[in-house]
Amino acid sequence: MNKYLLIRYGELILKGKNRNDFSVHLYKHINTLLKRNNLSKYSINRGQTKIEIKFNEDDDLYKALELMKYIIGISTYSIAYEGKSIEEFQDLILGKIKEDELKSFKVEIKRRQKTKESTYEKKVEIATNILKATDIKVDVIKPDITLNFELYKDKLVYIHEQFMGKEGLPPGSNGRALVLLSGGIDSPVAAYKMMARGLQLDFLSFEMPPNTSQKAVDKINSLAHQLNKYQPKLGKMYYANITPFTDEVRHSYTDRYNIILMRRAYIKVASLFAQKKGYLAIITGDSLGQVASQTIEAQNVIKQAITYPTMFQPLIGINKKEIINVAKDIGTYELSIVDAEDTCSLFVPKNPVTKPRLETALLIEKSNDLLPEIIEHIHENIRREEV
Ligand code: ATP
Ligand code: MG
Repeated sequence: MNKYLLIRYGELILKGKNRNDFSVHLYKHINTLLKRNNLSKYSINRGQTKIEIKFNEDDDLYKALELMKYIIGISTYSIAYEGKSIEEFQDLILGKIKEDELKSFKVEIKRRQKTKESTYEKKVEIATNILKATDIKVDVIKPDITLNFELYKDKLVYIHEQFMGKEGLPPGSNGRALVLLSGGIDSPVAAYKMMARGLQLDFLSFEMPPNTSQKAVDKINSLAHQLNKYQPKLGKMYYANITPFTDEVRHSYTDRYNIILMRRAYIKVASLFAQKKGYLAIITGDSLGQVASQTIEAQNVIKQAITYPTMFQPLIGINKKEIINVAKDIGTYELSIVDAEDTCSLFVPKNPVTKPRLETALLIEKSNDLLPEIIEHIHENIRREEV
């Protein structure tokens, strides 16, 4: 009996060429992820709506199964067994019934090819076979276990265990973008959300030496590392030193605008960097109303700083609880809550403006001739770290 990993990308809305591109992306991503995790002894087969992977070693199959949670764009993944008739699966199914002390079951069949028998006939045949061998009962309403089969012309596939995959478009199928990554909970989730819309991401974080500790940098690196598990092509981690800017602005006549000005500086530096590197979007983790810089007025003033390219804020209408749920699901939450001081917390005024005016922000910026040069300098000195 053949045992393999069955990955379904299911009944996609995508048609024609798109569907093919989509499945090629998935196929490549799966191969890359397996190789990255030192799994090489397998054969893989790409079909219209599924990918099948057979491993030489059982251990490798289970390792691969664990990794499938990092593949975006699949609806389910399962351990599947292939045989000719129900008798071949009997030991396996009876073993499971005994082990989990199951009292009731039902059989579900998906017919994948035209067959002589109807699905109903096959269901009865399978159920009868099991009923004869143990004292388990049939319960079609609330069974302890649903036994899933797929019926083909010349074979029967038993889906032993099935898991929900991460829905979305495969990262990289829609172009490259830059995420402004902080050590908070939100920006890693924003990054993930946009990966799942098919973007391949690099990361940019602003640090404020000498105030930014190594611990804070390590934290950001670990977030980028975790997010990279979802990308076929590893994203690059960049750091920009914002200190020359904050040192200069600290002397302006009102510190109530500090955060707004710093955010505008982030965006200006990111814009220049995106232009140079060819990113098609800048992504942030802003969520409306969360903090002073996230009022609608503040957002207006901040976003005016962008020259190129477009800016995506996938969390703008999402509340914190939902964001935290995603963060937990993708494995960034535990990293985000590690205590390491935040760059901007060192520059937060006592009484930040919540309804800033664009004219005022521009006035402060214009009162200092050096700022454009400083922005340019920060951009020129962006450095990269391995994650
Ligand atoms: P997060 O949890 O992502 O830090 P937040 O709710 O704390 O978000 P802010 O701190 O106001 O909100 O940041 C809003 C967005 O600005 C962040 O989601 C991130 O995209 C970007 N950002 C903030 N600080 C930095 C930083 N030091 N480096 C890079 N990007 C940053
Ligand atoms: Mg933050």
